[in-house]
Amino acid sequence: MADTSLKRKRHCGSWNVKVSDIARNTFNPIRSIVDGMRLTPNPSKPMIALSIGYEQARQAVADYSSSETSHVDAKDVVLTSGCSGALDLCITCLANPGQNILIPCPGFSIYKTLAESIGVKPERSWEIDLNYLESLIDDNTAAIIVNSPSNPCGSVYSRKHLQDILRVAEMHKVPIIADEIYEHFVFSGTEYHSLASLTDTVPVLSCSGLTKRFLVPGWRLGWIVINDRNNIFQEECFDYPNFFRVVLTVPQEKLNEACERIAEFCERHYQETMESNGHQVHNEGFEENWTE
Ligand SMILES: *Cc1c(COP(=O)(O)O)cnc(C)c1O
Repeated sequence: MADTSLKRKRHCGSWNVKVSDIARNTFNPIRSIVDGMRLTPNPSKPMIALSIGYEQARQAVADYSSSETSHVDAKDVVLTSGCSGALDLCITCLANPGQNILIPCPGFSIYKTLAESIGVKPERSWEIDLNYLESLIDDNTAAIIVNSPSNPCGSVYSRKHLQDILRVAEMHKVPIIADEIYEHFVFSGTEYHSLASLTDTVPVLSCSGLTKRFLVPGWRLGWIVINDRNNIFQEECFDYPNFFRVVLTVPQEKLNEACERIAEFCERHYQETMESNGHQVHNEGFEENWTE
């Protein structure tokens, strides 16, 4: 139980979502090279982009996640290793050690595991006690995790309850991480609402994946849909167009062809290196051919 008397009350101003130190300090030299490459592909061979993730997969998630009130583009989708990977990325991007995130209680154990692993304190809030939720928010609150439909409770929050949660988030300017891995799992007579479909203003990172509804946990495909109509994350936080991407794989025939090309390339250049050993090093051929 959190001691709320010691908390610094949060200032209710404008949105000011800060990127975590981990996210700010994460620099991927491979990406900075690959993203800056300007190559002219060999005109006689179509380019096989082995390093680039699938636009189609992101588009499929975007189509799946769009609703009448919230349109999602492929660029708003980040593919991850399962829904666990999605939650991990969201928490790590938003919270610094010493900050807190609000999690449901009873709740899925992974929130506590992920938050504590980076030194962020999970504070529990009961699913429907909005006053208690509000009392837990302070200056150090980086995010609220909402899990509906819920594991382990099985509860499905009503539209009204979700709107109430959004109002609290809006008032205190706290972004929401929505664990919606059980989206659409509701008994007949109950309607499922995604949090993002109910707000224009609160930034919502919706996490889901193929594990539960599509029954393929072993594929480890999850995603984050960034619902952020007012660019609250984009200005200061995710910089997501080049931020993070998981490479799945390319179709087998492409992979075969790419491997054959790499093998041919290596054979050619291996012989050249042998001949030039001890003499002049011939690397012009290498530069000429390296986009094949
Ligand atoms: C199963 C589950 C996850 C993790 O899903 P994976 O795609 O297997 O990583 C996340 N949140 C909740 C509530 C779950 O029940």
